[in-house]
Amino acid sequence: MKIVKVEAIPFAIPYVKPLRFASGEVHTADHVLVRVHTDEGLVGTAEAPPRPYTYGETQDSVVAVIEKIFAPQILGLTVLEREVVHARLDRTVGNPAAKAAVDMALWDLLGQCAGLPVSGLLGGFGDRMRVSHMVGFAPADVMVAEAERIRDTYGITTFKVKVGRNPYTEDVAACRALRTALGPDVELYVDGNRGWSASDAARALREMADLDLTFAEELCPADDVLGRRWLVAQSQVPFIADESATRAAEVTRELLGGSATAISIKTARTGFTASQRVLHQCEGLGVEMVMGNQIDGQIGTLCSVAFGAAHRSSSLHAGELSNFLDMSDDLLTEPLTIADGTLRVREGAGLGIAIDPEKLARYRLDV
Ligand SMILES: [Mg+2]
Repeated sequence: MKIVKVEAIPFAIPYVKPLRFASGEVHTADHVLVRVHTDEGLVGTAEAPPRPYTYGETQDSVVAVIEKIFAPQILGLTVLEREVVHARLDRTVGNPAAKAAVDMALWDLLGQCAGLPVSGLLGGFGDRMRVSHMVGFAPADVMVAEAERIRDTYGITTFKVKVGRNPYTEDVAACRALRTALGPDVELYVDGNRGWSASDAARALREMADLDLTFAEELCPADDVLGRRWLVAQSQVPFIADESATRAAEVTRELLGGSATAISIKTARTGFTASQRVLHQCEGLGVEMVMGNQIDGQIGTLCSVAFGAAHRSSSLHAGELSNFLDMSDDLLTEPLTIADGTLRVREGAGLGIAIDPEKLARYRLDV
């Protein structure tokens, strides 16, 4: 079960509808398909979505760090030596999406070797998650129409609303329009992607106090250390750290420093191994978590639901698993489907990822 080859294949699939938020916008899924091959002919697969506005990684940098640094360090190791793999990958700082994809491809191999599903190996709590849909920046009436379409088509009743524009003329009004149109049975929470100041965020939260929000996420920059603590101390709902808590040490810092009271776990940046550490850290400290979305494609979404459904604590809230709906196509032979507001874990050994060779040939950028 030795690792004999690691591929990093850049590909690009356009979005039907771009996603816009405070720290950036996405028009094309310019991701990297990572495949780890063993000497027995098995192939572990995962996907790295580069997010330069959050982690500094680009499609080119993900390919380069995997091909030039990571692959030579892990060739010859067995799929059971995952701690050795991590010790070697961690010699390079940063590059979370590249490291996470290698980690998840190794778990895929582990499952295939054992003939068992990865979700079961991780914890086996359930076989599906409720889905939360992300509503990006648009005029309020367009955001409402989008949420209604998603609710009516897929049965989704939890929405994460992107905020971080002008809170008074745009964001609060959009949230109020959504609550009015969707009614009290729908769950709403907000994500600012650091777009507001602490004082604007505090005022906006007061103005939205009657909207029954479940969470508030990254409303102002975590680097505004005292301002953020001041804001979190007065928030009436759990305050989620996302891009400010991308690894275990940052989770500790944010939570113990009073700068967050809940954590977003994204397998796209912490894979399965480090995501499980963060999850256990949250359980130990007694804080809630949400399975976040790194604007994942279907492969990344399959990884997220495999992890989220595997644990009780990550299944308590709906997982952000629907961004792939905005993509024009994907690489899987059998596309994911969301029905009755839920997404199922794929059955079979490993992660159950089967890549359509014709689609890969059409969208890959390296040939
Ligand atoms: Mg976020």
